Amino acid sequence: MADRKDTMIVNALVRQALTSAQEVMGENGLNAVLHTSELDRFIGNFPPNNLDPAIQASQYAKLNEAIEAFYGRGGKGMLRRIGKASFQYAVREQAALLGLAGVALKLLPEKQKIKFILNSMAGALKKSNPDVEAWLDDSGERLAYHESTCAVCQDRHSETAICHLYAGSVSEAIRWATGKEYEVTETHCLAKGDPYCRFEVGDVRE
Ligand SMILES: [Zn+2]
Repeated sequence: MADRKDTMIVNALVRQALTSAQEVMGENGLNAVLHTSELDRFIGNFPPNNLDPAIQASQYAKLNEAIEAFYGRGGKGMLRRIGKASFQYAVREQAALLGLAGVALKLLPEKQKIKFILNSMAGALKKSNPDVEAWLDDSGERLAYHESTCAVCQDRHSETAICHLYAGSVSEAIRWATGKEYEVTETHCLAKGDPYCRFEVGDVRE
């Protein structure tokens, strides 16, 4: 997917990622990977919480790659944790963007809760950047969240799926909505040559 357009990521999302990475990795760890991914300008200087453009998707992808490399075999787990922290940050600081302000899901069936939150995630991303193509597919046996403009793997190539931070965010979103842990598996990834990244949700227990 070499011809994929290198879109912009807004300040709010970079701020979310950096705050969460710092929470999980500590300040020194974050500063080290900011340096190796040539994002030194963010050391001790996170972007503001607004929707102005911050960095190219490919730079965000480099940051993800640097975190994975920094931890070696533990990279996947760390990125998942950062993704989870990212969603928690979004709920705390960006509930309006996510469309969660004042929302009560308690009375909805489990599947509806998951559909609601994954649609909210896709909607928030599209609001942050109209070039984003993200959607929920509920036509198959399992629910699956897709993005064909995934920034985590922009300009990256791999034989396996690599958008662990994204998978962490999806799983934490579902935990927020249902109060339960669901397995989230990245079955397709643009980095492998698939047409989109696809995050499949484990069987819904109604
Ligand atoms: Zn991806």
